[in-house]
Amino acid sequence: MHNTKAYSAASATSPLASATIARREPTEHDVQIEILFCGICHSDIHSVRNEWSEFMSTAYPIVPGHEIVGRVTKVGAAVTRFQAGDLAAVGCMVDSDGTCPHCKAGLENFCPNMTLTFNSPDKHLGGVTYGGYSESIVVDERFVLRVPANLNLAGAAPLLCAGITTYSPMRRAGVTKGKKVGVVGLGGLGHMGVKFAHAFGAHVVVFTTSPGKREDALRLGADEVVVSSSVNEMQKHAGSFDFILDAVSADHDINAYLNLLGLGGNLTLVGAPAKPLAISAFSLIVARRSLSGSMIGGIAETQEMLDFCGAHNITSDVEVIPIQKVNEAYERILKSDVKYRFSIDMASLKAE
Ligand code: NAP
Ligand code: ZN
Repeated sequence: MHNTKAYSAASATSPLASATIARREPTEHDVQIEILFCGICHSDIHSVRNEWSEFMSTAYPIVPGHEIVGRVTKVGAAVTRFQAGDLAAVGCMVDSDGTCPHCKAGLENFCPNMTLTFNSPDKHLGGVTYGGYSESIVVDERFVLRVPANLNLAGAAPLLCAGITTYSPMRRAGVTKGKKVGVVGLGGLGHMGVKFAHAFGAHVVVFTTSPGKREDALRLGADEVVVSSSVNEMQKHAGSFDFILDAVSADHDINAYLNLLGLGGNLTLVGAPAKPLAISAFSLIVARRSLSGSMIGGIAETQEMLDFCGAHNITSDVEVIPIQKVNEAYERILKSDVKYRFSIDMASLKAE
């Protein structure tokens, strides 16, 4: 075991503060990574504040962070794909059983025994896993990704959650040229959804509650922008979409978006508001529409997404901050005041 600096929260109402945590010595299959950047996902906030307690309650202290890029510092004897000095990335998972049908299908994200990067039982050290708001992490090689060398590292970190969470459902839905695609909520996930839908050739419409994001949405790849408070603007798109990705973090009227789907259209929820959403049966039955959910993506698809980003030079638009600004960043995210992801420069932890 060795100690590493981190930022943790002691309770649902405590701010994040400097702490020291233990990491295991790498076993033969492990990769030890010095963390260079870690994105701030809205899921970090939901978890730190225990907002998802009915689904999974938070164990304290919590060290969040699951959008990790860094450099390999040490590898176990059986590791074949990484060596010291390589760039490496870790997303929302650090382990799974490897034997269940989902794992065998490359869907480790749905393995019943999947270990999340933070707030999951830690089978090595006991207690719970600690995430990326830290100097270093030790992860089984199977859950370590390769980062294309041409990508900016601060902007690449958010690909590990915001990237794969939007890439995966769009690929599954067949988002391509000729499809009309909506993205609801221009935050960390939403802005990646716009970049991917645009790169896949779709006609992209952004729905936002923030009129001030209109120009950015167009720059990011949207063809049209709708301010969702305008009934008139919404009505123009009624019954016209093939696919809508809903990436909203808070309670909202989902029927307003279901009604914009055409015959057989699909709305996929990736946003995870704490409270249940109310759905009118008529929003679905009148046009044989479907409503789905999606959670991150498997390891092979995450690598595919990173390679796609390398080939198309896609990264997240980030505001780089030192870890000391993390609590302020949380408040700004809650006000939808981030363009469009915070990426923490982990070198700032050395000052603690
Ligand atoms: P974020 O950066 O805070 O973006 C959320 C966006 O939703 C905001 O920028 C805002 O966009 C919109 N919004 C916020 N409050 C709203 C409200 N009251 N009514 C309508 N729109 C509102 O969050 P994120 O990191 O992208 O995460 C989004 C959600 O996805 C979170 O719930 C997160 O936990 C979840 N998530 C799920 C997965 C998964 O695997 N399914 C993975 C990661 C995150 P506008 O300003 O454009 O309206
Ligand atoms: Zn996330």
